[in-house]
Amino acid sequence: MPTKSSYPDIDVPNVDVWSFMFERKDRPFPDDKVMLVDSDTKRSYTFAQLRDTALTFAHGIKATWNWKKGDVLAIFSPNSIDTPSVMYGVAWAGGVISPANPTYTVEELAFQLSNSEAKAIVTQVPMLPVARAAAKKVGIPEDRIILLGDQRDPNAQFKHFTSVRNLAGTSRYRKTRVNPEKDVAYLVYSSGTTGLPKGVMLSHRNIVANVLQGKAGDGDKLTWNGGPDGQGDKILAFLPFFHIYGLTCIIHSGVYTGYTIVVMPRFDIEKFCANVQNFKITYAFVVPPVVLLLGKHPIVDKYDMSTLRMLNSGAAPLTRELVETTSSRIKVGIKQGYGLSETSPTTHMQPWEDWNKTIGSVGKLLGSLEAKYMTSPEDDSEPVEVPVGQVGELYVRGPNIFLGYHKNKKATDGCLSADGWFRTGDVGYQDKDFHFYITDRVKELIKYKGFQVPPAELEGLLVDNESVDDVAVIGVYSQEHGSEVPRAYVVRSAKSKSSGVSDDDEAAKIIKWMHSKVAQHKRLRGGVRFVDAIPKSISGKILRRVLKDQAKKEQETP
Ligand code: AMP
Repeated sequence: MPTKSSYPDIDVPNVDVWSFMFERKDRPFPDDKVMLVDSDTKRSYTFAQLRDTALTFAHGIKATWNWKKGDVLAIFSPNSIDTPSVMYGVAWAGGVISPANPTYTVEELAFQLSNSEAKAIVTQVPMLPVARAAAKKVGIPEDRIILLGDQRDPNAQFKHFTSVRNLAGTSRYRKTRVNPEKDVAYLVYSSGTTGLPKGVMLSHRNIVANVLQGKAGDGDKLTWNGGPDGQGDKILAFLPFFHIYGLTCIIHSGVYTGYTIVVMPRFDIEKFCANVQNFKITYAFVVPPVVLLLGKHPIVDKYDMSTLRMLNSGAAPLTRELVETTSSRIKVGIKQGYGLSETSPTTHMQPWEDWNKTIGSVGKLLGSLEAKYMTSPEDDSEPVEVPVGQVGELYVRGPNIFLGYHKNKKATDGCLSADGWFRTGDVGYQDKDFHFYITDRVKELIKYKGFQVPPAELEGLLVDNESVDDVAVIGVYSQEHGSEVPRAYVVRSAKSKSSGVSDDDEAAKIIKWMHSKVAQHKRLRGGVRFVDAIPKSISGKILRRVLKDQAKKEQETP
């Protein structure tokens, strides 16, 4: 029997993301509430400035590019206080945002642009060479590449998004009507349970639901006007806005709640600590490697972290030891959340007051969600349900579950049933008080510091290397990185074997060769191991479990 959330159901209004944020009748905070602050330059947006900038841009893309419902705009940028204006402008114009990792190579970006059928790109000056090359590959014209952030194009070829305006005046256009339940608002990329990255179609309703589910889960703990100075909570935002964790939990939840988002373009431990002290940060969304740094890095002692009320960790497993070490060092609670791109993202969240009673749990199922636990057969047999309380693969159903993968029915059918159940690929159990614990992952996915590394993508590249006859990539845990890291098991080609190059040198060569082909987070930090054969099933499927067990044994052997 499926189990229901222990929270009351959420009343999800039938509105699009724009109306949800900017046309609501019950907004508690005023127009001049400061919403976004750049941690370096201190440039900021109030709520009204955010709305007005987004509106100007929305009119601009309708006037300049004849923007239509469903048109996709890719954002290829590090975090910026300008990102939300672009996102909400596109929402008003009925478009779809597809955010991409700004460290992508030309090939990686071109893949997303082409797969998402993006019509335009918003980027920053340092990313222009990659953006232009990728745009050229997929046929996006150069006048559809625009900029955000503080730097302007020194050659004045690429416009800033704030100058994409309706020069004929603003009254000609209306907000594009969308169906909040059926129309896509975001196309984020995830490899799901297997294969290459796919466009995860998140509807307006998915996002609206998840903001409200999260708020109910946190019991309105984060405020727009509370705290010691009456200025409300201040959230430090270094988690990438291109990932669903930053997108929903920071931007959308922030603009809805009215807390101040202090934006860091990228993570740096000393800057993180200095920002906490200088901006009197009260809360931060983090990932386990950051919890590790806060627990162990000497620099942390130099700063006053006392304004922090809580940290929320997600995107990857967090151990009890880490929670205990870090929370006692910096005297702050650390709670966990869990979710996926496909679930907008949060499905589970530890209640604020539970953080030190249920350490190790990823929390309780949020409102309006159901869960069930199934077996994960390695052959083609059908999964069967296991009783609640026992370990099984988690399936969830509710208003924040995605619409499916963009133009990929096969992958959608593989994880989303006709009656709405979504297969997560994660394994765990819930206790009698509804706290959920993750014990394993049965899908292929590797997560490096919270970033997705799809093994199939790396394998696809590695087979093109002349030293590689066959290959399988798995994730192994690294103490040094405080994270899983990708490791390749390789069958050396005859040519490579006869070359006289030692295994160690060949491994180093392969690792280096990959550097130019993939974004930083996908590098083979777990190394290359040579094997005689890749373990496979009769149907030719890689038996990753065998390699994982082998890696575990290697790690356990001193
Ligand atoms: P993504 O779609 O990139 O958000 O990745 C989702 C995956 O991250 C999940 O399926 C889990 O494998 C992993 N994940 C997310 N949150 C947690 C957590 N709190 N603990 C363990 N794994 C997590």
